[in-house]
Amino acid sequence: MPGQRWTKEAIESLIRQVVSDRKNLPDIYIPGKSQAAVNNQRRRLKEAQLLNGSFAGRRLRPWTICQLKKLEDLTMEYGLSADLIGQLQLIPGRSREAVSKMMGRHGLGNPDVKFRAQQAERIDQHRREDLRTFLLGEGRLMPSRDVAEQWCLAQKTVSRYRRRLGIALSWQQARSSDEFNRKRQEQAREFTRRTRDRWQIWRESLARRLERLRAEMQLRPAPPPTRVCTMCEKQWFASPEFYHVQKRRTGKRLKLSISRACRLCRSAHPLMHGLQIVNY
Ligand SMILES: [Zn+2]
Repeated sequence: MPGQRWTKEAIESLIRQVVSDRKNLPDIYIPGKSQAAVNNQRRRLKEAQLLNGSFAGRRLRPWTICQLKKLEDLTMEYGLSADLIGQLQLIPGRSREAVSKMMGRHGLGNPDVKFRAQQAERIDQHRREDLRTFLLGEGRLMPSRDVAEQWCLAQKTVSRYRRRLGIALSWQQARSSDEFNRKRQEQAREFTRRTRDRWQIWRESLARRLERLRAEMQLRPAPPPTRVCTMCEKQWFASPEFYHVQKRRTGKRLKLSISRACRLCRSAHPLMHGLQIVNY
């Protein structure tokens, strides 16, 4: 049975208790509402951005370095907007608002802002803390050159940070970091290999599908005209199942153009036909 609706007064009281009084869940009191109901309502208000960030909630997920790097590429290299990045979920799980906020924080998207940031050669507070955590933790043995590349910093800056944190790499550590590097490269190669395998399996299944479909269509009383692929020279049917069809509107006329290479051949070079998103 649903509880009583939230009145305007109850909601205002909740906002006041969270934002002004900074109360935690057990201390919040709304007449007639259970703690679970209060918790749910608080989450909804947070999602509607009515709590001025007073209550971060448990859903807060800090951005990873990879996500930041990807955001940097998407905005600076490809010039994509926060809107598009959010809408296409190019950084999974990050909304337009989150992307936009992060772009602002890192001076991305606007070349002037980016230029000023570079000139200043300063890392903002937020990033500085991330870098510190990274250098003390998982990046402990990573060569400064690699850290610099990953964080878009000068190598000198990284070395300076290390000295300041009292964790400059010793000769032995530098040597063992070669080991670390080798492992990392191995992992990268393994990833590429796995991806290629998966891609191959997918293509083989597509080939089987197309051949089955062609056999089916050949038995039809009036099959569509055939078309030979300019790449593999296989004979398919001139239909969207086998060839990519592009629709273009010029004025009032709709122009259809059919690809010269079949879907299978096009899929062999997927990155030629679309935006290449760099994976980290
Ligand atoms: Zn082909």
